[in-house]
Amino acid sequence: MLKNEKTQEKEMKKEMMLKVSDIDPKFKYEISKLPGAENVLLCFQCGTCTADCPIARFDDFYRPRKLVRLVQLGLKDKLLSNDVIWLCSTCFTCIDHCPQDVGIADIVRALRNLTTREGKMPVVYKEIASNILKTGYAYVIPGLRLKKREEEGLPSLPKASVENLAKLCDITGLSKMLEKVRT
Ligand code: SF4
Ligand code: SF4
Repeated sequence: MLKNEKTQEKEMKKEMMLKVSDIDPKFKYEISKLPGAENVLLCFQCGTCTADCPIARFDDFYRPRKLVRLVQLGLKDKLLSNDVIWLCSTCFTCIDHCPQDVGIADIVRALRNLTTREGKMPVVYKEIASNILKTGYAYVIPGLRLKKREEEGLPSLPKASVENLAKLCDITGLSKMLEKVRT
């Protein structure tokens, strides 16, 4: 057991070690051209975002400050292959509190978009996107719940125009992107 833990620790350390070849010097500029992420280079690592982030409170690895630093350092592959970028709840607390107006939630969105373009997305997000395409709602609403609404005298839920949604997804390239995604 002890040996396993040591081996695990060694493997983790190895994974965390950086090589010059891991660095993509253009990455920070690539990110700073994306809407909302223009101020990525202004982060001076004060840590306010991490102190106030509700996800960082419950996860030992999720640190918004670190995500920005990794972007600044150009560690593109490490970031885009890391599931941690999908943990942000987009509550925007970091945006409200950052003294440098860095816009971390927007940077995280940019990272997720890049990851999706490379064909990677957690299964839950793919399911939500497929549900929206099929029904206009993020979750498939069970028939029983709809019946219950009717029994309670509640109005019917608005119907989404699935055709318009499909058109929008084709125009934006989302449909193709979803086909490409390997979960
Ligand atoms: S609060 Fe803003 S400046 Fe401070 S570490 Fe976070 S992103 Fe950087
Ligand atoms: S938007 Fe994301 S990174 Fe910012 S505070 Fe909320 S959960 Fe944390």
